[in-house]
Amino acid sequence: MSKTTFSVTAIGIAVISLLWIGFFQPYLTSSARTLVPVPLPPIVDEPIKHVLAFENTTLIDRNNRQVILNMDSVMVFVNKLRNLPADYAPLDLIIPSVPFTFSGDEPRKYMRTQAALALEQLFAEAKNLSLDLFATSGYRSYDKQKSIFNNSANLKGEEEANKTSARPGQSEHQTGLAMDVTSSKVGYNLVESFGTTTEGIWLRENAHAFGFIIRYPKGKEYITGYSYEPWHLRYVGLEVAEYIYTHSLTLEEYFQQKHGY
Ligand SMILES: [Zn+2]
Repeated sequence: MSKTTFSVTAIGIAVISLLWIGFFQPYLTSSARTLVPVPLPPIVDEPIKHVLAFENTTLIDRNNRQVILNMDSVMVFVNKLRNLPADYAPLDLIIPSVPFTFSGDEPRKYMRTQAALALEQLFAEAKNLSLDLFATSGYRSYDKQKSIFNNSANLKGEEEANKTSARPGQSEHQTGLAMDVTSSKVGYNLVESFGTTTEGIWLRENAHAFGFIIRYPKGKEYITGYSYEPWHLRYVGLEVAEYIYTHSLTLEEYFQQKHGY
């Protein structure tokens, strides 16, 4: 290519480029204005996590233990994986007006107010039916549970002890929502045969009508991790108690079904 031809070609390309830009520029600008903006990634509506969803009810501490956050909820969920803080004690404990197996003002007479009032109704109905029912053990502090568990573990070893006795922080009695009940027919003891007494049978079939569940039922030991305890009543409120009773669930199964634990 000669120098002249190169120059002419270069000028030609430059002119054509300018014309091209000049011709199309207004069109490009105006058409750009009418273009729909590049869509942003769609905002996904996250389902609102239920207050009882797992993530909202525990945190994992430095020792990799689940520590319960909603201690004051009537639906607080305590078991061998879910620990109450050692310093937790409910603030609304009262003594329910029901017959006890012992006299005097002891911590184990106490329950949280809502549960205590429900227990009074349950006992009123039991009395109407001439049932021989007594309360024996309600609220228990972390420290008290610790000494009970240690005593039991010294006698039979930790693993065996843990089938019937909760480790400190893992007892429902610390929530103030549980009450152990018994009858003269079983010597006021907490024994499995209580479940076959008129009182034990009535409780199993009717406790839900007052907002209570039999927390450690027979045949579900592999789920709850505890032996059958026909005497251990746990308050969960009417609606949940009714559901758990109707569907023959444990609290573990209820949380799995309803809240995806
Ligand atoms: Zn109990």
